[in-house]
Amino acid sequence: MTPDQVGKLFEKIPRKRLLFLPTPLDKLENLSAKYGVDIYVKRDDMTGPSPYGGNKMRNIEFILGAGLANGIEYFISTGGYQTNSGMELTQCCRKCGLKTILYLRDTLREGIPSEYRGNLLLNKIMGCYVHYVERPLGESRRATQVRCLELMAKKKEELEQQGHKAMVLPSGVVASEGWVAYVLAFKEIIEQSQQMDVKLDYLFHSTGSGGSLPGMLAGKFLLNSDVKIISIAVAPPPVSADQYVIRDRAEEVFRRLGVEAPHREAIFNEINIDWHFYGEDYAVPSQEASETIMELAREEGLFVDPVYSGKGFAGFLEYIRSGKVLKGSQAAFLHTGGAGALFAGEGFTGKIWDD
Ligand SMILES: *Cc1c(COP(=O)(O)O)cnc(C)c1O
Repeated sequence: MTPDQVGKLFEKIPRKRLLFLPTPLDKLENLSAKYGVDIYVKRDDMTGPSPYGGNKMRNIEFILGAGLANGIEYFISTGGYQTNSGMELTQCCRKCGLKTILYLRDTLREGIPSEYRGNLLLNKIMGCYVHYVERPLGESRRATQVRCLELMAKKKEELEQQGHKAMVLPSGVVASEGWVAYVLAFKEIIEQSQQMDVKLDYLFHSTGSGGSLPGMLAGKFLLNSDVKIISIAVAPPPVSADQYVIRDRAEEVFRRLGVEAPHREAIFNEINIDWHFYGEDYAVPSQEASETIMELAREEGLFVDPVYSGKGFAGFLEYIRSGKVLKGSQAAFLHTGGAGALFAGEGFTGKIWDD
């Protein structure tokens, strides 16, 4: 299909337009010269509506489209104290006159925050209702998460008894309504690179809850693109969605667009998730990510974060250094946002050193 034909598939899909699209596709000149690879960044950290954008925003446009059509007033979600998705959801909800309630879990066992910082500060400024869910010693992350899901279900019931309509969204605002969004992001990348006369060989990005990759895969098939998508996992499975989950979601994207999906094996074969770069665990700063955060800031004035885009970009650079991405090739990195975490304190960011 042509990009225009792909765009037409979205005509009947509910969507609340809130973002500044298309986001820029920008060349990193200094880094390109340094590594001998043409490096581009798709700036989905700049989706809007505020300067603290990110990849969840695109999905949220479609989730809110569906929610508004159903008269939803409250969105209830969860994440770590520094949740990007919860902060992104709150921004979009406030712009639509909707309320958010977040159950924030102590993923790193730091205890209840004594100060509002980073995304937590932004959430508090926006008037989001925040509940803390502590993680007692010896409780697994999974168990805390299950307790959060129970608390969210209970809250929804409570609101419904009071005559309100509420929708629960799990970590990463993972909802099938949202997965189509990244078909359009992929389409933007293809259109922009063509306008720039660039033929991309690779598209790298950080993958977590798996809300962006299914749409990009579908976009790749729909546009018959031979860009190789390489996904750097930011957590071990199942915190980072695995190949099977991603394949099933890509099939769901085709269903929602009303297009026959390719064979599931063909989809599966295009999924390249690399599990080598999350470091110790999800959200634990890694040396490589800290180095990458500083390299990008110092070479390009570009900010990536310790949890997602820093680990993803560190993986991308390792592919270049090791020659897995050949010199002279053209590669893009999808910047999914998250730099709010840089304002959460040094313990979160990792060590900072002088030049
Ligand atoms: C959520 C998130 C990701 C991962 O995207 P998924 O759609 O969950 O796979 C990457 N980067 C940032 C900054 C995020 O907030």
